[in-house]
Amino acid sequence: MAREAEASRILIFGGTGYIGKHMVRASVSLGHPTCIYARPAGPATRPSNLNLRREFHSIGVHIIEGELEEHEKIVAALKKVDIVISALAYPQVLDQLKIIDAIIAAGNIKRFVPSDFGCEEDKIKALPPFEEFLEKKRKIRRAIEAAGIPFTFVTANCFATYFVDVLLHPHDPSDEIVVYGNGEAKAVLNYEEDIGKYTIKVANDPRACNRVVTYRPEPNIISQHQLISLWEEKTGRSFKRVYVPEEDLVKLSQTLPPPENIPVSILHSIFVKGDLMSYEIIEDDLEASRMYAEMQLTTVGQVLDIFLTDPPEPARAAFV
Ligand code: NDP
Repeated sequence: MAREAEASRILIFGGTGYIGKHMVRASVSLGHPTCIYARPAGPATRPSNLNLRREFHSIGVHIIEGELEEHEKIVAALKKVDIVISALAYPQVLDQLKIIDAIIAAGNIKRFVPSDFGCEEDKIKALPPFEEFLEKKRKIRRAIEAAGIPFTFVTANCFATYFVDVLLHPHDPSDEIVVYGNGEAKAVLNYEEDIGKYTIKVANDPRACNRVVTYRPEPNIISQHQLISLWEEKTGRSFKRVYVPEEDLVKLSQTLPPPENIPVSILHSIFVKGDLMSYEIIEDDLEASRMYAEMQLTTVGQVLDIFLTDPPEPARAAFV
């Protein structure tokens, strides 16, 4: 059978990571021959990472062990696939230049989805520490465009479980919840498994070639006040809202040492300024829930139910 008629073969960098694992699982469940490129497992590898490798092995994922510096090994891996997705951690964002070099050398890749998965960095301007972070992601976008590699850039907005944990501290017995700014700005909280599925779909979708796709389903648009009220409904508890004004966050972004100045700048951008919702999505733009209206989504309410029944371990993104 001609290759075009078969499911595309997908290689994922960062597949053992917080968001990457959902992409690996979605890729397999959607029928794609899937491999990950991961650092060699050794004594320093976390047990959770080793467990994931075992799980991946059991579902037929091919694991290629190597470093990002091993150009020839990456080129050889790329030659055996059609689509490349990177879910590398933020500190490795610029290392993706090595993946770009390898994609150019391999010459066969039909789509590259780099490690974006946050806000639309080409449309917002944030406080300096977050700007510096976004600038690295913009640099990767520009390098991909300049190389003429077919791409999809993903604006996944907030990872829901991650940010519910940051905002509500569900593990914390305290009756106080911090509200950044006035609590009214709208953000978008998308469940991690849905982000994994959307990403595999857009990476394969001809409509998304050389385009940005935003994940902004209407039911997932929510303010901090709405989120806290929903949590109050679910838990039957009542929380005192403790406000951190904008000026305090700006000051913290100027006084905290790096990398601690990055998360406060992100909170400012998303929850005080409302940057995720600061631009309209027009008819011509690609929005995932419009593209895949048939896909069953996990709502923010359902994410809160997960915290009530089977609370996930808190996670924090790497900034260095
Ligand atoms: P992780 O911190 O979970 O790391 C992903 C993978 O990167 C790891 O599993 C590891 O793979 C690889 N990696 C880590 N360190 C190194 C290293 N030194 N050298 C080479 N590879 C390394 O990433 P996240 O899932 O937190 O982040 C992925 C993307 O999502 C980033 O772009 C981040 O900015 C974004 N993000 C977005 C959020 C949102 O709410 N929108 C929240 C958090 C992150 P292995 O061990 O297999 O080699």
